[in-house]
Amino acid sequence: MNTLGNTPTDGDLVDWDRDHNLHPWADTAGFGATEYMRVNTADGIYLWDASGKRYIDGPGGMWCTQIGYGRQDMADAISAQVMQMPYASPWSFTTEPAAVLARMIAERTPGDLNTVHFTTGGSTAVDTALRTALFMNKRLGRPNKKIIIGREKGYHGSTFLAATVTGKERFETSFDKAQDLVRFLPDVNPYHRPNDMSLEDWCNAKIADLENLIAEVGADKIAAFIAEPILCSGGVIVPPPGYHKRTLEICRAHDILYISDEVVTGFGRLGHWFASEDVFGIVPDIITCAKGLTSGYLPLGACIISDAVIKRISDAPGDDVFYNGYTYTGHPVSCAAAIKNIEIMESEDILGHVQRVTPHFRARLQQIKDRFPIVGDVRGDGLLGCIECRPDLNDQSYEADVKFGQKLDDACEELGLLLRPFGNMAVFSPPLIITPDQIDDMFDIMEAGMTRVSEGYEKS
Ligand code: PLP
Repeated sequence: MNTLGNTPTDGDLVDWDRDHNLHPWADTAGFGATEYMRVNTADGIYLWDASGKRYIDGPGGMWCTQIGYGRQDMADAISAQVMQMPYASPWSFTTEPAAVLARMIAERTPGDLNTVHFTTGGSTAVDTALRTALFMNKRLGRPNKKIIIGREKGYHGSTFLAATVTGKERFETSFDKAQDLVRFLPDVNPYHRPNDMSLEDWCNAKIADLENLIAEVGADKIAAFIAEPILCSGGVIVPPPGYHKRTLEICRAHDILYISDEVVTGFGRLGHWFASEDVFGIVPDIITCAKGLTSGYLPLGACIISDAVIKRISDAPGDDVFYNGYTYTGHPVSCAAAIKNIEIMESEDILGHVQRVTPHFRARLQQIKDRFPIVGDVRGDGLLGCIECRPDLNDQSYEADVKFGQKLDDACEELGLLLRPFGNMAVFSPPLIITPDQIDDMFDIMEAGMTRVSEGYEKS
């Protein structure tokens, strides 16, 4: 169908989207049947759908709209770069935005993480990190040291390797993965520990899981451990205190690279450029980031590698090639957007703002737990939050959880708030510019939604 020159009707858009646009994580039964909400405009923390209804953007796009929507200064920076130099092959050239941004990132990373490889998003950043770990070991003459340790409920993306190390068991699909390259550690969620177990004992048990797996597989076979500082898509799971430092120490003792996946936690979500050191006290070997790097205005990711790893790769005998990269590596327009994003975050002290509003956000989150007995746990850090409801005593199936999550999502949507349902959990990560009054608006709607859906729900 030739659509040029025609103004599509609402009906056309619904049909064309259903017929031709395959969305991420589409249910096979819904191929060609699902009607997605069509969003038209956005400003600050708000989105408007095609009918003109306004919503608070609870998920912050997809954990990414840090500086908020509708920024003229961002549009100007993007447009200026488009006119000056919209594209340059990273194989042959560099550009001012790519060089400047690499430097700005290196200045904000912990320790000796100074080498930046730009990617197209988070999955390709993770893919690059894993390929770098395997590449390093081949260069060092130990090609069999290539197993990756991931964690149950960890999410790392959608390329073949990133999906391989993703441990979200409920999203097992018929998609193939490189199973022989990965081993998973069990759930680290403190909320799921036995009732009589202290947090300290839970941490000890989680550390033992890692030690046991290394003993079973053999450190000489393990290349890397990949971990989100907070497991975001798994339900904003904050591992017990001390966990990060101890896992890093174990990795160092066995020469296993520690990859910190900061695709969500980086760029201000927890009130710091990166959470690894500033929040959890660790300096990993590799950090991956994306999303908040451009506040979602343009696609961009980065794999940031320590000087120590770079040195091991370059000092190993024989010449070789870092055979990784993308047509859009260091894309000048995306890099210009990221530079402007960092400038805005700095000039408006957005990191300080997140730190200042976090206690209020946490207090309102806690209030939900105190008010609604069906809420089993609330958790989060910075502007990341999750409400986990108790399972329905009458029906503890995954389908029942999904139904409940969907009901809460529907109720909040009707009331003007978008959430992200995951089974019996709802997660949210609003734009970082959200004000205390807007935090109240968001939680007021959530409480009204909870009131609606908790009626008639059989609680434990
Ligand atoms: N890593 C983490 C921790 C993520 O949450 C995501 C996406 O949500 C990814 C990687 C993949 O990023 P992308 O969707 O940009 O490829």
